[in-house]
Order: sequence, then structure tokens, then C-alpha cells
Amino acid sequence: MRSLWLDREAERIAAHYGETGVSRDLALRVYTSRLLGGEPKLVLHGGGNTSVKTVVEDLCGEAVEVLCVKGSGWDLASIAPEGLPALRLAPLKRLRQRAQLRDEEMVRIQRANLLDPAAPSPSVETLLHAFLPHKYVDHTHASAVLSLADQRDGAERCGDLYGGRLGIVPYVMPGFLLAKKAAEIFEADPEVEGLVLLKHGLFTFGEEARESYERTIDAVALAAEAVARGRRAVFFPAALPAEIAEADAVAPILRGACAIADPRKEGAWKRFVVEFRGDPEMLAYVGGMELQRYGRAGVATPDHTLRTKNYPLILPPPEGGRLAGFKETVREAVARYAADYRAYFARHNEKEPVSKRELDPMPRVILVPGLGLFGLGRSKKDAVIAADLAEATAGVVRGAEAIGRYEPVGEAELFAIEYWSLEQAKLKEAAEKPLQGEIAVVTGGAGTIGFATAQALKAAGAEVALFDRDRGAVDEAAKRLGGFSLGIACDVTNAAEVASAFSRVARHFGGMDILVSNAGAAFSGRIGEVAESTLRASFEVNFFAQQRVAQNAVRLMLAQGTGGALLFNVSKQALNPGLDFGPYGTAKAAALALMRQYALEYGRDGIRANAVNADRIKSGLLTPEMIAARAQARGVSESDYMRGNLLGREVTAEDVAEAILYAALSLKTTAGLATVDGGNIAAAPR
Ligand code: ZN
Repeated sequence: MRSLWLDREAERIAAHYGETGVSRDLALRVYTSRLLGGEPKLVLHGGGNTSVKTVVEDLCGEAVEVLCVKGSGWDLASIAPEGLPALRLAPLKRLRQRAQLRDEEMVRIQRANLLDPAAPSPSVETLLHAFLPHKYVDHTHASAVLSLADQRDGAERCGDLYGGRLGIVPYVMPGFLLAKKAAEIFEADPEVEGLVLLKHGLFTFGEEARESYERTIDAVALAAEAVARGRRAVFFPAALPAEIAEADAVAPILRGACAIADPRKEGAWKRFVVEFRGDPEMLAYVGGMELQRYGRAGVATPDHTLRTKNYPLILPPPEGGRLAGFKETVREAVARYAADYRAYFARHNEKEPVSKRELDPMPRVILVPGLGLFGLGRSKKDAVIAADLAEATAGVVRGAEAIGRYEPVGEAELFAIEYWSLEQAKLKEAAEKPLQGEIAVVTGGAGTIGFATAQALKAAGAEVALFDRDRGAVDEAAKRLGGFSLGIACDVTNAAEVASAFSRVARHFGGMDILVSNAGAAFSGRIGEVAESTLRASFEVNFFAQQRVAQNAVRLMLAQGTGGALLFNVSKQALNPGLDFGPYGTAKAAALALMRQYALEYGRDGIRANAVNADRIKSGLLTPEMIAARAQARGVSESDYMRGNLLGREVTAEDVAEAILYAALSLKTTAGLATVDGGNIAAAPR
């Protein structure tokens, strides 16, 4: 670990923000905050916080001494000046005289002292920053420091290593009392450059931004050297079966076992998205003989518990070719985990003056010897965060076990964080979208209807994988869709490509719940004279490909055991044949029969099959040239041709997407056919 401070970069940022009236003090605070935030071994995902004490003008134009401290919702890696709201410093400092201060009261006082009432709420560690006298204060959860501080004798180890350069603060939960304790320990020896917060992290301070930042780097570098002097081989490997199952086969089993049936709505599930990590370091960690001890010791720093829960679920290694037995083992292990979690909640909740609201009992991290780590979240983003934090914890454990024995903060303290009133208040606000936690695959995903459908599913909360023949187009479409969307180049008429695309989806998201089988192509020819090869080519893409993707989707859905939705894009041709359009229409009619067959045979597995019957939509199948030719042939304008239906309205790709979304959400509808064609009585199902 070395300092990344560059004078010219500091000057550039000071000049850049100076143009918009941001002070040099604050601009340099932004610069070093980003340096800290950019290093995952220092802080991750909103962890850590920084501050600067300076003088600014309030909204009325009066100069006032303030503390600018990280606001909640901001990440140090990408912080901007508005992410460090200014608070009047003097009233905050006076709070130190109090003996007690309730958390909610502290938050209210902090908000009341913001110069800008619209600013984000300041960090829960604001008072710690305020009670220290230094201009700059930096707080991180540095992995190397935690390897020393998460030990039974962490105080002695840190004392020996830092030789009085850092004060040592025993574990106290963040908030008012920790702020007071830290200030007392600083005042006992005002020469110190910072404080080690045992089982929590590191504070450093200084009069200059660079000084405070480099004191963090020095302290972390010293700790890293101490860890490097420890044992090389840390985790002694346990025996593994000769053949281990693949992550993409295991992930749907885990995902299915952790899904929670919604008691208020039959057929609905609260599902999780998965993020897999399996590099050699992670394999060594999950493969250690003593995994049950160090793996279940608890999180490296308390605020991780909000994302990962205190403990991971630890499974036995999955033997290749024996996944049926493994699936049973997983279901039992998850049930045990949930029962343990409920007992943990009851045990600690009992002692609370006001009863807490119990969170769901499912793990957010699963450790699988032979494979690696699976992070779980209600979105891909949350799953990635859980996996990142669990990986960081594994790194802290590795360091701690190299020099001693990992012993982080205990269960009661972690319960206090997990069920902190300030965190519980946040939960009440979070409203979830209807497809939150669900994963959708859309074939023909780069096309007009496919992409509109992907957008509708994503807006409803689903994670989306797009399949399309055109690699460039599908990459571009996935990028446009944003978030963690996946674009896979896949020709649905190629069995090997389809199987491998579904494996990628399982590895990337953990499985899937919604298939939109949308890829298709138009073929024409008078049926009595058309070449057989044309008919076969049409059936290949309009029928066999739909069967192929449905079969792959069903394989994953059955592995999960939580049902799912198969949605087929079937043309009006399936019901109402068009002249000379036999090769296309007969294949689509077969696809409609296919949908019914799936509905019949998989209803008992909770898998629904439905179709959307769309017509006359501007897309790759109905190009502007075709529209012009058909309008001319009928002697009408192009606009009248597009509105040639009972309602006289043009039907768009977005209309089709809405119908598909509706089918995805209709838990009591299967073998259904939704018509999206503005009204065509000859094509009406009867
Ligand atoms: Zn902290």
C-alpha cells in the first residue's frame, strides 16, 4: 500500500472545483476521499467516511465554522463536494457535554445543523469527526488493520505495532458513545496520528488533506507488513471429491432453496439474484479444514452485517453427477440456517425495550468448498455488494489467521447493528418493484419488440439477459439497457450455442424465471409450391428454436423448483393465415400448440406458459419498405395501413412489451393468448 497523492492532480481538482465556488479545503477533501474510496482494501460500497473543518458562508451570507462530512448514500470512490454536507460545528461540539444521546435525537440534531436543509443526512459517525480537533479526519475499514484488530489480543498487537503513534479504542457501537470514547482516548495522548477502533477500523487525522490521507496509508502499510511476516500457508485444505459440479449447475439449486414463498400471494416468490466468485484465493478459503470455525466467526467490521448478515451458509462440496442428492442437502441446510437466524433474532430481540421487526432469515453469502462463494441479493447489484464484502472478509480472515486467530466483534454487538433503529427506519421506505429479484431471458433481444420487452421487464425490477444472433447489436442493446444486463451472442437455431447461453445466464445471475421466446423470422411462398427447404428453415427458427429455448429454461426452472413463466411471441398468423405466408404461419401455429403443451405438462411445477399474438408492428419483420409496398397494394396510405384494425390505432413494440409484462405478472394465468393487434376479428381466438 502506497500513497497515490499527486500534487498536480490535487491542484487540478482544486482549480476545477474552485471555478464553481468550492473552497480549496473541500476540494482537497474530495480528492483524498476518492483516493481512499478507490482502494477496495481500504473501504467498499459506501463504507468509511471523511471530513474537513472549514469556514463557509451560510445561506444568509454569514461566515460560519462548519464540519463537512460524508453524507449517507454517497460512496467515497465517487464523492463530489455536495456529498460532504456542511454542518454548524459549534453546536455539535457542545453535545459532548451530554451523558446520553438517543440515536434518533442525534440524527435530528445533525439534520437541524445542516447549512442546506436539502442536503443528504450526514454520516452516523459525524460526532466522532466533530469531537476531534483536527482539520482533516479520514475513516476506513482497512483489511490489513482489521487482520490485527479482529483478534482476541488486538489491543496489544496494535499497541506493539504502532508504538504509540495510534491510540487504541475498544469496541463501542458507532454513534454518540463511540464519538465520546474516541475523543477521550485522543485527549489522553494528543500526539497520536490516529486511532485504531478495535474490531471496526481506522481513523487518522491531520492539518492537511495529504497528511491525514498518508497517515492512513502508513498505518495500513505497517499492518500489511506485519501480516506478511505471518504464515504463508494459512488454510489447510480439507479433502474434496474427485469431481466437483459446475457453478452454473449449482447456482440454480442455491437460488431455488433460498427463495421465500410469499404467504400473501399464492404462486409468488421472494427471489434472490446471485453473484459467484471462485478465484484460487477464494477456493483456498472455502476449502480450508477449519472453515466452520473461521467462516462462521462473523463479519470483519460491523457495517458489513447489513449486507451479508453475520454468518454465511456453509455447504458440503457438490460432487459432480450427484446433484439430486446435493439439492436435498441444500434444502435441509437452508432450513437449518433460517431456523438458526430466527433463534438469533428471538434471543436478542427479547432484550430490546421495543420489539424489532424481523428481517428475512435467508443467507446473503453461501460458501461452497470446491467451488467458491455465492453472494445473494434482491438485485444483481446487491448480490455483487454482498460478494465483494464477503471477499473482503475472507482477506481479513486470511491475514488474521496468518498471524493469530480471527476473532471479530460478537453476536450481540452485531445484532445491535443489524437491527439499529436508524437502519430499520431506512427499510420502511424501500418499496420494491413487482419483478424485483426475478431474472428474464429475452431472445431476439436486440430487435425492436425484444428490446422494448427487455426495457419493460427491467423497469419492473427484473434482471435481464438478451440473446441475439448479432453480437455487436446485442452488446450494444445490453449496454443501453444498463445495470448488470447481459448480452449474449446466440443463434437460437444452434443447440450448442443455446445450451451455453443458458449456462452463462445461470452463472451470471444464478438462474432464471421468465423466458420471452421472441426471436423469429418471416418466410413466404405459396404452400403447394414452396420449396421444402424454405418450410424447414421457417420451422427451424419459428418452432424448433422456441422449443429449444423453452426446454433449456425449464431445465433451470426445475432445478430452482420455484416455477416460472414461458412467454412465446406468436403471430396472428397462428390463428389467421395470410395469403402466401404458409411457411411462417404454420410454424407459428405449431408454436402456439407448443405453448399449450408446456402449460399442460408443467403447470404442476408452477411453470406457466402463455403467448402474445401481435400483428402489424414496425420491426425487423415488417420493415418500412414492406409497409410501403403493402399500403400501395391495398391503395391506402401507410398510416392507414398501420391503423387497419378494429380500433383504428397503430400497435407499437411497447404495446407488445406491456402485454408480455402483464403475462409475466399474471400468476393465475396459463395457456393464455393475449391479442395485441388493435382488433382483427378473423384472428380472434375462439
Ligand atoms: Zn466505520
